[in-house]
Amino acid sequence: MRAAHSSDGAVRQRLRELLANGRLPAMAPMEIAAGYGHGRVCIACDQPVTQHEMEYEFNDPREDRQLSFHSACFLLFQSECVERASAAPGQRVDR
Ligand SMILES: [Zn+2]
Repeated sequence: MRAAHSSDGAVRQRLRELLANGRLPAMAPMEIAAGYGHGRVCIACDQPVTQHEMEYEFNDPREDRQLSFHSACFLLFQSECVERASAAPGQRVDR
């Protein structure tokens, strides 16, 4: 059996893994392009972003690689970044 749609929990789990192994930058960048999808696979849930869905994309500055997200998955990514930032004691950001 195959789940047609990933639940928030599964996407969060996947995002945590991608953040933990460095596949995703630990901070959401400031410059994000938003628009309708082009069928590219969302890195968070591994499902294509269709032409009828909003796609958020940004460049991973470390690899100059384009990352695509569904709008909902991007929000989860942002919230995981915030959680990670507040949970990592050695990486406190002073401002
Ligand atoms: Zn997604």
